[in-house]
Amino acid sequence: MDKLIRLALFGPALVLLSGLIAGTGSATEVRVTDTSCEVQGVTIEYDFPAAKVDGCYLNASGAIVIQTAPEDEPINPSPWYAFRISSAKPQQVNIAIEALGRGMARYNPKASNDLQSWRDIDHEKVNDIILFRLDVGPTPFYVAGQEIFANRDYIRWLDSVSKLSGGTLFNLGQSAQQRPLPALVKQAEDNTEWLVLIGRQHPPELTGAMALRAFVAEVFSGSALSKRFLARYNVLLAPNLNPDGVALGHWRHSTGGGDLNRDWFDRTQPETTAVHDYLQEIVKSGDKLVYGVDFHSTWRNVYYTIPADYLAKESNFSTEWLQRLAAAVPYDVEEKASTSPGRGIFKQYMADVYGIHSVTYEVGDETDRNEIAATAQAAAQVLMQYMLERS
Ligand SMILES: [Zn+2]
Repeated sequence: MDKLIRLALFGPALVLLSGLIAGTGSATEVRVTDTSCEVQGVTIEYDFPAAKVDGCYLNASGAIVIQTAPEDEPINPSPWYAFRISSAKPQQVNIAIEALGRGMARYNPKASNDLQSWRDIDHEKVNDIILFRLDVGPTPFYVAGQEIFANRDYIRWLDSVSKLSGGTLFNLGQSAQQRPLPALVKQAEDNTEWLVLIGRQHPPELTGAMALRAFVAEVFSGSALSKRFLARYNVLLAPNLNPDGVALGHWRHSTGGGDLNRDWFDRTQPETTAVHDYLQEIVKSGDKLVYGVDFHSTWRNVYYTIPADYLAKESNFSTEWLQRLAAAVPYDVEEKASTSPGRGIFKQYMADVYGIHSVTYEVGDETDRNEIAATAQAAAQVLMQYMLERS
């Protein structure tokens, strides 16, 4: 039996026992299946893409504990959770999100009725557990660590980007579990220079995904700047590089058991290999990669770049771009330049294999959503402007 299911089935029994002593609950009150659990008349379902629950139980103080476990270890402590909740009888319930393994309370809970618009849930974080109270009734609603943007959302969105931009949709390849790696290429016949945009190596990093979408919208906006930019540059967009992890609600890794953003030199995974093969084709055709942007999320907004003096060519590319961004938005723009030789990070790969600068564009988990969009839009504008001024 799976270790987690065992935990879900037997772990709770011990807790329920103490619950019984305290006069709450009985052992028959928790029913766990592969896709749902029922605790005291509350139904918690995790049968949809990006859903993530690995166990439920009622604790001694009457809270429903929802567990999330990492896909493998060691792993970054970024516990993802997403479920749908309802109750035949309207009631107020206390929820505790508990991360198993090397977990900690990271993602603030949010609720949605339709997976489109989300609201923040008042909560507390105590000893790595996230606690909150919900009014539940017969109409199910969703609770998750961030807004959900799953594989089918990327397909729909890319379709709209393709219609707007005239770009071509294709699959770069397949993930380890044979999910497509969707991509779009916008190429003009005489263009030989490329901008590369990638995202979602790490499944829960939704704020990075939001920035990518706003950035891409600006690149293909049809503005005078966008038209001039696309008249000179080709664009490769691969926004969803870890569709297995996205579908399965992974904390960080691919189903190959590793961190894709540590795999760019070894390329043991089909996801990194697919991008590498495409970039190699570009270079072999005589075209040039000029810049890369790799979208992520972390605790704060920060742009991880390659130090200017690491590359002889266009050494100030990232710094110049980010200084222009800082002048364009009313927010702090923090550049942190570093190298990580041999660690298989995308920006290091771009520097060492292609001799170009690129950025790990990190967005804070809880950065205001309007700020994310406004900053990404400005970032795209000043980048296009800067790239048009290059000789
Ligand atoms: Zn990341």
